[in-house]
Amino acid sequence: MPSLENHAPKILISEDDISRRVDELAAEISADYAGKGEIVLLGVLKGAFILLADLSRRLTIPRSIEFIAVSSYEDGSMPSGAVRLVMDVRGSIEGKHVLIVEDIVDTGHTLHYLIDMLKSREPASIRTCVLLHKEHSTEVELDIDYLGFTIGDEWVVGYGLDYAEQDRTLPYIGVVKPQ
Ligand code: 5GP
Repeated sequence: MPSLENHAPKILISEDDISRRVDELAAEISADYAGKGEIVLLGVLKGAFILLADLSRRLTIPRSIEFIAVSSYEDGSMPSGAVRLVMDVRGSIEGKHVLIVEDIVDTGHTLHYLIDMLKSREPASIRTCVLLHKEHSTEVELDIDYLGFTIGDEWVVGYGLDYAEQDRTLPYIGVVKPQ
């Protein structure tokens, strides 16, 4: 990972481009779910909080908001790619249309874990909306239903994404320059 010292993230995706893409995703999602009743927007903390806020306010269909938090095991106690549930959804999702809202898919392990776990709770449907996909890092094949942008294998920050808890509130997606 790059050092945080004197970093100045280089713009990879501008605020305007994100906003346009979120408009498009919201229109597509609203059209696809029209007439199906309420959907549950399930934001994956922490990185998806800004996408969830922007997306949810642009939808024209009935929706409720829930959050879930997961984390990777980074202490070497589990095989690489193992994911841990840090905070569960508060309500039941049984019989509901669930749209997982995630910031970024890198290897795919996190989203794969979430989909598997949530499927066992018998929702009416599960789909995924992901802002960024690092296509070339994928280890677990996943169908992303609504994707913002495909990016290279770089550490990105901003629009909810952090580097060591910094830069989440940048309005654009930036790449932290290696020092
Ligand atoms: P995966 O399980 O797909 O490898 O990783 C997903 C998680 O890794 C994301 O939810 C995010 O927390 C983290 N992640 C992967 N790449 C990046 C990145 O470039 N920037 C940030 N901030 N987080 C990343």
